[in-house]
Amino acid sequence: MSAERSRELFERAKLSIPGGVNSPVRAWRGVGGWPRFIKRGQGSRLFDEDDNEYIDYIGSWGPLLLGHRHPEILDAINEALTRGTSFGAPTELEIELAETIRELVPSMELVRLVNSGTEATMSALRVARGFTGHDITIKFEGCYHGHVDSLLVKAGSGVATLGLPDSPGVPKGFSDTTITLPYNNVDALEQAFVTHAGKIAAVIVEPVCGNMGCIPPAPGYLEAMREITARHNALLIFDEVMTGFRVSSGGAQRLYNIKPDLSTFGKVIGGGLPIAAYGGRHDIMSFVAPSGPIYQAGTLSGNPLAVGAGLAMLRHIQAHPEIYDQLNEATGRLAACAPENVTVNRIGSMMTWFFTTTPVTDYDSAKLSDTARFGKFFHAMLERGIYLPPSQYEALFVSTAHSEADIDRTVEAAKESFAIALE
Ligand SMILES: *Cc1c(COP(=O)(O)O)cnc(C)c1O
Repeated sequence: MSAERSRELFERAKLSIPGGVNSPVRAWRGVGGWPRFIKRGQGSRLFDEDDNEYIDYIGSWGPLLLGHRHPEILDAINEALTRGTSFGAPTELEIELAETIRELVPSMELVRLVNSGTEATMSALRVARGFTGHDITIKFEGCYHGHVDSLLVKAGSGVATLGLPDSPGVPKGFSDTTITLPYNNVDALEQAFVTHAGKIAAVIVEPVCGNMGCIPPAPGYLEAMREITARHNALLIFDEVMTGFRVSSGGAQRLYNIKPDLSTFGKVIGGGLPIAAYGGRHDIMSFVAPSGPIYQAGTLSGNPLAVGAGLAMLRHIQAHPEIYDQLNEATGRLAACAPENVTVNRIGSMMTWFFTTTPVTDYDSAKLSDTARFGKFFHAMLERGIYLPPSQYEALFVSTAHSEADIDRTVEAAKESFAIALE
């Protein structure tokens, strides 16, 4: 398959956009070659500028739970367009979205809408610090919470893919407010609360990690985290930007039956448009302006296009709870086709094939993966029309638009590609 037009576009893009892309992992540095420039998407399919067709397992990095151009989402956007794109004033639709979020995720007693996952985590942390009067945040190695200054410490996703050190441009004073611990390690968490007693505002965690590849919480880990934070009067923030409405209709907190103090949502919540949310306990969120003193604002926050798309997405989820069984089954078939010397981690429709024989439970074990073999696998799959995340340290996503025939084709391609990568 030819990708010459994509190659030309990439060269042209690099002249006016840093690295040719508007988000680093899109540049394919983790797998080599050049990114495919996309012309359009439909259902489970992507079409690039050379008119190649792919079965898409990125889904815009998570948002497209229903695939590309789902009619209910398109209708909602079209309907909103007839009335205007943004008013900078409250609308009834925003209340409906907030109420729907509360129905699906009962811990979200008060909800504030923002425009990106980064904005949501940044704001949740500010609220946690303002509410507790403490400055220190605990995060976990390989967890990514957006490009928030203080959280770009041992972050996953593109930082892991590119093997970057912690980012320049973050003042030491900011990164000093962050303590980084290994994921899935209760003792390390207990110890940090002893060492920094009385100074910790919050623990922020991806309840199922997706940004160092998919890594589920060990049994009892989230329960221990809930107990320890409560005992020390620190807030527990679930960053559900990836897991929200993905691993269950109520996110990871429903799946594991844990009630965090604050949560952040993004990706699926916007149905493919830029929207995110943070919220949680009523007493804490009441500190947010204008009801309280902690400032947070946004010109385009809650704009009717994004809110319309998000509401259509969440209403679809409410009306069709069976989609999670369908997603589970389809993704389970992908998981089952890996050979013995590949470690598969999967929760619902989030999954990673790690090119290592050891179990992957944290950042250090994820790093044991053979990224050269992953690169070979990635390109072999691409040749066969399967579009995977271009990094060992990302999760793939299955959507409801993936048909049984799509999964069959992907399993066939994966068997051939594993043989090529592992030879
Ligand atoms: C994607 C992601 C973010 C950042 O969201 P953006 O919309 O890219 O800013 C934050 N946290 C997690 C867990 C994510 O997966």
